Amino acid sequence: MIIAIDGPAGSGKSTISKLIAENLGITYLDTGAMYRLFTLKLLKEKVLLTDKDKINKFLENLDIDITNDRFYLDGENVSEEIRKTDISENVSKVAAIKEVREKMVDLQRKFSKSQDVIMDGRDIGTVVFPNADIKIFLVADLKERAERRYKEIIEKGQKVSFDEIYENIVNRDNLDSTREITPLRKAEDAIEIDTTGKSIEKVKNEILEICRNRNKL
Ligand code: C5P
Repeated sequence: MIIAIDGPAGSGKSTISKLIAENLGITYLDTGAMYRLFTLKLLKEKVLLTDKDKINKFLENLDIDITNDRFYLDGENVSEEIRKTDISENVSKVAAIKEVREKMVDLQRKFSKSQDVIMDGRDIGTVVFPNADIKIFLVADLKERAERRYKEIIEKGQKVSFDEIYENIVNRDNLDSTREITPLRKAEDAIEIDTTGKSIEKVKNEILEICRNRNKL
């Protein structure tokens, strides 16, 4: 079984996906984290985003690993680093590079070969798994999405302003939905859920209900 969850930043994708995975006993893959890990690699190595040769070289030797809620780059746990402002500010530019997307999509498809999965991202229902069993597109008001992200980051002890987060979300949404290659889109057959003002529990139950109705349980 493959469940695809797409939507803009802060729409609740990862929180909801984790809960659904737990409930159904399937594996969750945060595909945004994959793009964040590669962005961290490029920033660490001071690679210009125009330097295709270097980018291809690092893609060939990519060493990322995701285990439960921990994210590794070259064997090092970088779970906190990949959520920081410099990564959030650059990730959408990295994710717009054709070669980067091809590599990540390939890894995501391989990941699903041997197990039932729920994956969240921007192109899961449209590109990675156009034949996914269930496709959900989560949306929410911009202000609420920024508030959620702000709360999440503050709780992790990072120092950021609300305006900074708001601006980052606007910029990322803009880049993600206007990029040339596979922009953020709702798949035609995806079910859209507006999570504005809804509790996590409510959204989770709505999706579980959709799963039940599709006789996938
Ligand atoms: O999910 P998250 O907000 O952490 O994703 C970070 C960025 O990675 C997104 O803003 C987008 O640019 C990119 N991304 C993508 N395709 C995916 C998942 C994430 O382009 N499937």
